[in-house]
Order: sequence, then structure tokens, then C-alpha cells
Amino acid sequence: MPSRDRHHRRPIIAANWKMHKTGADVGAFFAELIQALGNEPRHFAVVAPPFTAIPAAVEAARELPDFAIAGQNCDWRASGAFTGEVSAPMLAAAGCGYVIIGHSERRQFFGETDESVNRRIRAALDAGLVALVCVGETLAEREAGQTETVLTRQFERGFYGFSSDEMLHCVLAYEPVWAIGTGRTATPELAQQAHAVLRGLAHQFGGGEVAHHLRVLYGGSVKPDNLTGLLAQPDIDGGLVGGASLDAKSFATLLRS
Ligand code: PEP
Repeated sequence: MPSRDRHHRRPIIAANWKMHKTGADVGAFFAELIQALGNEPRHFAVVAPPFTAIPAAVEAARELPDFAIAGQNCDWRASGAFTGEVSAPMLAAAGCGYVIIGHSERRQFFGETDESVNRRIRAALDAGLVALVCVGETLAEREAGQTETVLTRQFERGFYGFSSDEMLHCVLAYEPVWAIGTGRTATPELAQQAHAVLRGLAHQFGGGEVAHHLRVLYGGSVKPDNLTGLLAQPDIDGGLVGGASLDAKSFATLLRS
């Protein structure tokens, strides 16, 4: 397995705001964030606001280097009679560079499957977006010893039909469902085990270059006091953060961890 190389895998800290904040909240958040960040070195930042706050976030982040705005989901069709959906080309036109695909809340509450995740990744890449693809096991699956089986199934089906080049336009997030919003973080060692499985899958399905370059973020109750330990693991290349990303100072601390 290729060793970790910070030069090739610069960490990404991605903020998933879920269904929080309006366009009017965005200005104050970014003003506080920019002040807290100063000119110090930091990780690459991604912010995924609700759809309605995307234009304000794109505007606020326009001058910031190493900063991208993301959608939290996209439909796999470009347009059509699909009430309530937003497409990948629409996100790209709004100024997004990334889109989160297959978040466990989408899988749990909105019936998304590995197959629809696969179609959404295709749509994201076709629109020129980086697909931030989420995988992870539930507590019941972990307790039944199925973590590796579940990760393998989600990876295989999610990336079915993608070339190595296409996989290099994706970022993976390992998010154990039992750790999301629960305050229960996986220990760095437990997370590393799962990340190593995912890097092995990247090698198996994409080859050495994909395994070397693919960034695998950890998500699940990441906070300023636990990120450093997670980032010290060889296969953890950043974080996908819900709760702790809503506060600008806390997000700034994560970006500089
Ligand atoms: C998430 O939204 O992907 C997440 C991991 O949430 P939290 O950090 O709140 O657990």
C-alpha cells in the first residue's frame, strides 16, 4: 500500500451545514471565519450550505483561495419534471465546485441506494463537480461484524463503471452512521482501520495511482479536540463535519488543526 504523502493528499475539511442557516446568515459566518483564519496556513476548505444559501456562500468565498462551495446532494438528471430536485449542472452554474453524494441521512431518510448514488456521482462528474462520496456502516452492521462487507458493497456499487481518471475526481468520506451527530467519534485507530479498507478498495478498483491520491475524509462528531488525533492516522485525509462546522470559530480551528 502506498504510504501517506501530505504533498499528494492535502487534507480537506468539509462543512456540512445540513438544514441550517439562511443566505442572510452567511455574511456574518464568513466575516468571522476570515477574521479567525487570518493568513495562517490551513487545510483546503469546502462549505456545503442548504441550496438557498449557496449564492450567498459563493459570493462570500469568491476571494478566498483553497475554498470551494458544495451542494449537499444532486439529482442524476440534468433537468425535467422532477419537483423539488436540483441537478448537478445547476449547482455548477451556481458556482459550486463540489457536491456531497450519498450522505447517510440521504440513504436513511430519503431512500437513496448504492445505485442512485452511482448515478449521482456520474452526474456530478459530467457537470465538472468533485463528488464527495459518503460511505459508512450502521451500529447494527458494525456489531454484526459486517463493516468491511458494507464498505465494500457501497464502494463497489457506488463507483461501478468509473475509470481510474474519474475516481481521481472524487473524494471519499468514511462516516460511521453511529458516530454522526451522536457525539460518539470513532477512535483514531478504529477510523484508520476502516480508512485502510477503503484505500485497499481504491487500489483494487482504481489502481495504485487512485489509492495514492484519493482523499478519504473521516466524518462523525469531528470536533476541534479530536481532529488532530484523526489526522495523525496515515489514511485519514481530512474531515466531513456537521455540528462543529456551524460555528465559524470552531470551523476555523478545524481548518488549522
Ligand atoms: C455529517 O454531517 O456528515 C456529520 C458527520 O455530522 P456531525 O459532525 O454533526 O456528526
